[in-house]
Amino acid sequence: MSRLNSVIRRLQAQRDCLNASAVMIQDLDGLVLEIGLGNGRTFDHLREIMPDREIYVFDRQINAHPKCIPDDDHLFLGDIFETLPKAVEQFNGRVALVHSDVGTGDEDLNAKIASFIGKTLPPALMRGAIVASDQKIDVPGTIAEPLPEGVPQDRYFFRRYQ
Ligand code: SAM
Repeated sequence: MSRLNSVIRRLQAQRDCLNASAVMIQDLDGLVLEIGLGNGRTFDHLREIMPDREIYVFDRQINAHPKCIPDDDHLFLGDIFETLPKAVEQFNGRVALVHSDVGTGDEDLNAKIASFIGKTLPPALMRGAIVASDQKIDVPGTIAEPLPEGVPQDRYFFRRYQ
């Protein structure tokens, strides 16, 4: 497959997963955490498909398109090893969806970040909350949920908090 087709497939799968996760939490009255602002593509999509949800965004730096930068009240700027624990305390049991897209080219670092996110998140989650991620994250108290049709296994990961 050409690299162009590969990128298109990856982004289509990501969009399908975001759309599906919005449906999966439609009956939950909770907020959204977007971990990994990057250039703001997925943040922009999440706010388009869930205009009434509060979305809080994490990144260590701002590199996003100017129109895709959240206001200061919805931005946790800094290393998630420092910011996520603070957010978990602040949002205790009120989070309906976490989208984590912090994968880097460094597999060891990815594993360390995934393990930290998994260990740290649970007190923030409400019952039924979804954790959608580009990396496999073991979140205590969650079970795996199937991906949308057509999204290859291990391209994305869905967990639901029990
Ligand atoms: N979701 C974004 C989008 O659609 O544009 C892409 C996110 S990009 C793949 C990953 C982001 O995670 C980068 O912007 C990087 O700065 C951020 N990141 C990686 N490790 C981090 C850490 N330890 N703390 C905070 N941000 C981190």
